[in-house]
Amino acid sequence: MALTPEQALEQAALAGIHRLRIPTPFAVGRVNCYLIEDEPLTLVDTGPNSGKALDELGAQLGARGHSIDDLELVIVTHQHIDHLGLVEIVAEHSGAEVAAIGVAAERLANFDDDAEAEDAFAVELMLRNGIPEEVTAALRSVSRSFRGWGSRVEVTRPLGDGEEIGFGARTLQALHRPGHSPSDTVFWDAERRILIGADHLLPHISSNPLITRPLDGSGKRTQALAAYIESLRATREMPIEFVLPGHGDPVVDHAALIDERIAKSERRKEKIHGLIAERPRSGYELAQAIWGNVAVTQAFLTLSEVIGHADLLVNEGRVREADDGSVVRYEAA
Ligand SMILES: [Zn+2]
Repeated sequence: MALTPEQALEQAALAGIHRLRIPTPFAVGRVNCYLIEDEPLTLVDTGPNSGKALDELGAQLGARGHSIDDLELVIVTHQHIDHLGLVEIVAEHSGAEVAAIGVAAERLANFDDDAEAEDAFAVELMLRNGIPEEVTAALRSVSRSFRGWGSRVEVTRPLGDGEEIGFGARTLQALHRPGHSPSDTVFWDAERRILIGADHLLPHISSNPLITRPLDGSGKRTQALAAYIESLRATREMPIEFVLPGHGDPVVDHAALIDERIAKSERRKEKIHGLIAERPRSGYELAQAIWGNVAVTQAFLTLSEVIGHADLLVNEGRVREADDGSVVRYEAA
């Protein structure tokens, strides 16, 4: 019998892992951080950079008899600001080590330059895929306004893929699972079969593999969805009892949820293939055909979805990109 999400939370607490729910200003709502009562005393993710988040983090640690100053290790699961905005402040107060996947360390250390470069990359990508200039300008100013909730992060303990972090009473293995973001890392307690999964697998919402620049700085865009599906398949094979996600309640049947996510993606891919088979279309035209006006208000998100699925079709040899010099259109191969 699978556990209920409530039982999973209780089981995690018995293992010394406590969920802290920290407020964010974003549509996703609160972010889950996890306190691990062990040696070292560890916090997985911190919440965004805001006074409100800092107050709540302090209060929720206090309810368990700890303070921010007591923390000895902070683990960063991925590069998104709702998860890591407070890391630098927490590390400064506590002197805690900061661990994250090593391939992301340089990027995390250069947050401001990196955010600017990421925005420029997104605008270029949107224009190349047929999104009107005024829409890209509006999105860019929204992105700038969010930047204050982020922060640079100095990673003092870069982790290799598969590297283990030893605690007094447990071992966590860091596993790189790119897709939702290129730095997504999950932390596996093989003995207890608990996976701290962050945004790699969320219970009620899909993990939105956004198109980004790769971590290696090559400037060539990632195939975010293709990478994500590969990562999900690797996670599916693990003997996981439950996943502690970055938002919402524990996932108690990870294989079924992953199958559901992959099946949904397959259906969307076939729908996009059908639209392309009718006539060549740009990414923006495809997004409008599927989502109507949401393709305007959520232009980057919907474009990422379309490009992600078009990548799969290109990889399968069913679709190719036709570039007229200004806009890329997809056509049936
Ligand atoms: Zn995220």
